[in-house]
Amino acid sequence: MKKRKKLGVILWPDTCPFCGKASAGGICVSCRKKSDARLVREPRCMRCGKPIRYAEREYCHDCIRMNHMYDRGISLWIHKEPVNASIYRFKYHNQRFYAKIYADEIVKYHGKLIRKWRPDVIVPVPLSARRKRKRGYNQAGLLASELGDCLGLPVYTDLVRRVRDTSPQKLLDNRKRKRNLEKAFSAVRIRNMPQCVLVVDDIYTTGSTIDAVAGVLKAAGVQKVYFLTISIGQGY
Ligand SMILES: [Zn+2]
Ligand SMILES: [Zn+2]
Repeated sequence: MKKRKKLGVILWPDTCPFCGKASAGGICVSCRKKSDARLVREPRCMRCGKPIRYAEREYCHDCIRMNHMYDRGISLWIHKEPVNASIYRFKYHNQRFYAKIYADEIVKYHGKLIRKWRPDVIVPVPLSARRKRKRGYNQAGLLASELGDCLGLPVYTDLVRRVRDTSPQKLLDNRKRKRNLEKAFSAVRIRNMPQCVLVVDDIYTTGSTIDAVAGVLKAAGVQKVYFLTISIGQGY
């Protein structure tokens, strides 16, 4: 694992994940300004972490109406330019090295909070075997592995499996999305089931994917499920 990572650094020079120009520190100076403007700041929803308009409200519009299976979560950026295009390249255009840059940013801004949650393990949202074969990698798995390195936490990539392929979620409305996902995952029961899990994914949209994963984890005996994503939709 370590060896492969070092090789990765040699193969891919430091490039800005937003504009693609060479940049020693990852995000270049001009894109830093643009991406900082997309950081999710306070006040945010106590549940899903989405930005909310009024600090006196604890929860966003969605979380008031809906009970989630996970306990709490946080995302780094709002899913808008330049973040959305960057994540798209990370997912579909083989820009695997972005995982390290994203993980460093997440730990820089939210490392303290994540440590406060005291997760035992990190679990990436799995892809179906078919999709993983096609893409060659699971972007959530790459991010989880980098975060595990930064935070000194083990990553369990096989604790949750995608047992059924789902049709592309973006084409479905909320209810169908949920139903579609309910039977998509299964958790493997292991002897020392972790008590607290941090689920990692790339984008939080309605939360139905994270909820489905949290649901199977809790059914398998996990007590607390937190989540972390690179980006999230706006709450209002
Ligand atoms: Zn740039
Ligand atoms: Zn919320």
